[in-house]
Amino acid sequence: MASNGALDARDRAAMLSRLATERFDVLVIGGGITGAGAALDAASRGLRVGLVEARDLASGTSSRSSKLIHGGLRYLEQFDFKLVYEALRERDLLVSKLAPHLVKPVSFMYPLYKKVVERPYVGAGLVLYDAMEGTRRPVPLHRHLTARGALKRAPALSPDRLAGAMLYYDAQVDDARHTLTVARTAAAHSAVVATRVSAVGFLRGPDGTRVTGARVRDEESGREVTVTAEVVVVCAGVWTDLVHELAGVQAGYRVRMSKGVHIVVPRAAVDANTGMILRTEKSVLFFIPWAEHWIVGTTDTDWSGDRAEPAATEEDIEYILAAANRVLAQPLTRADVIAVYAGLRPLVDPREGNGSKPTTKLSREHVVDVPVPGLVSIAGGKFTTYRLMARDVVDAAVADFGREVPGSVTDQVPLLGADGLAAVQPAAGRLAEDYGVTRATVEHLLGRYGTLAEEVLNLIRADAGLARPLAEPHPYLRAEVAYAVTHENALHVEDVLMRRTRLFIESADSGAGAAAEVSAIMGRLLGWSRRRRAAETRRYLDLIEAEQTVIAMDPRPVPDSVSDRALAAVR
Ligand SMILES: Cc1cc2nc3c(=O)[nH]c(=O)nc-3n(C[C@H](O)[C@H](O)[C@H](O)COP(=O)(O)OP(=O)(O)OC[C@H]3O[C@@H](n4cnc5c(N)ncnc54)[C@H](O)[C@@H]3O)c2cc1C
Repeated sequence: MASNGALDARDRAAMLSRLATERFDVLVIGGGITGAGAALDAASRGLRVGLVEARDLASGTSSRSSKLIHGGLRYLEQFDFKLVYEALRERDLLVSKLAPHLVKPVSFMYPLYKKVVERPYVGAGLVLYDAMEGTRRPVPLHRHLTARGALKRAPALSPDRLAGAMLYYDAQVDDARHTLTVARTAAAHSAVVATRVSAVGFLRGPDGTRVTGARVRDEESGREVTVTAEVVVVCAGVWTDLVHELAGVQAGYRVRMSKGVHIVVPRAAVDANTGMILRTEKSVLFFIPWAEHWIVGTTDTDWSGDRAEPAATEEDIEYILAAANRVLAQPLTRADVIAVYAGLRPLVDPREGNGSKPTTKLSREHVVDVPVPGLVSIAGGKFTTYRLMARDVVDAAVADFGREVPGSVTDQVPLLGADGLAAVQPAAGRLAEDYGVTRATVEHLLGRYGTLAEEVLNLIRADAGLARPLAEPHPYLRAEVAYAVTHENALHVEDVLMRRTRLFIESADSGAGAAAEVSAIMGRLLGWSRRRRAAETRRYLDLIEAEQTVIAMDPRPVPDSVSDRALAAVR
């Protein structure tokens, strides 16, 4: 039976004891969207599942993306029709059924500057894009706009050379919240989800070959325990090669890191009522509406530095500003930039002629490999297609179980908060009255938690002080900090300010002003002393100083080796 999947940070000791004592069918390493998806896929097939994440859920690439759930218009140009088709089906499933509270349609305008050449070309692409949708069609069809029509929607565009525009629809998501919700949904189906627990070694069966589990370290206490499982599934994103080395295996692929940077500017800096996509020399640039802000990006450069804290360079920021300013009447400047974040794409690089290649199932976007019995790994892909990736890796994981395991059912498993949403949304006014909060507060909570919003409202009913905003003018409430501890496994201040809320990228001070209050609310629940609260606040301030430091140039490569130094890169 499914529960509410609460991940209560106060239950950490019990959770660690379950890891050490239960025998799992599947142990997942990595709590990004791929690992969370794999845990949900396996748990919803009735398997016993454990998941260990070295830092926080989504702390790697899965909180640093462009936050689009999309087919990827530009893949059409590369004739990757299957990929676009699959991604669009996934988008529509998420918007209409699996996560309507989290994945929301968004319009994009594609300005045209060479009318005769561009309009038929882009138009044909969009006809195909729309045609690849399922019959449900939860987002509208594309439209042609004149130059006047384009300027009406986006007065920020320079009218020079503007010949018209195309308007089409995709979807967007808070990537960190979506990842957390997938992990919670896995927990609702009995998965044990442990954060700040790293895999540091592997267990082998009596024949010395088959992997039978992992040695894991609780990063909070340093204590190590062994976890036994019939199969270990590696979903470690850009850390995959390091985990393979830890296991002493050579997989049929390596993971290359490509850095993508975004800048965040205030909504008022760009006057437009739609997202925009521009063609650049190398790729495309998105203006993505994000509440009171725009997220603008991205870049694409090789990276060989620290995996945990990829840094933006001045050059990255200048590149984004220059690309944006090519079409804006009023240029964006460095002073408009309130935040910068960088993420690493885990790109798959197959090893030609590698001995393990026959067991490697390659697809254009993601790769599943079985380097030794009992160990399966997956890398590549994109956020949008995580459910398909999860299905593929779990299919490979259970292939030699020697017993019938049901197929994937995640296309029928709405994420927590989705079920019954249609009936709760119209009741926002009543809920506001019942709980003594504003309708705007209820709508804010419904947009982040779906039907689980009532769990947050119940915290407010028990303690009215929690209804106060955390950091005005941002809409987050103090109750959301408490909820992050009691239901979302937040263990440190950065978990709340960087991922449970997004103040790190939405606030000009990166959430620094709210850190002490977050620490106080968390401390009350987690029993932190006054000294510990101060230390947790300081830890966050140090972290944002390091994260927000824009470096002059990309750092020198960090040599890959399986040492504590390499593993330290995970933390
Ligand atoms: C700039 C950028 C923009 C993007 N935009 C989009 C987009 O708009 N739409 C889209 O569909 N996709 C997008 N993507 C791609 C998408 O974000 C990634 O494909 C996806 O987030 C990868 O998820 P993951 O779970 O594989 O990796 P990660 O999220 O990095 O997760 C891997 C996890 O493994 C953990 N780990 C590593 N080693 C260990 C260990 N030893 N023990 C325990 N845990 C360990 C790490 O801490 C990490 O949390 C973008 C990517 C980038 C970089």
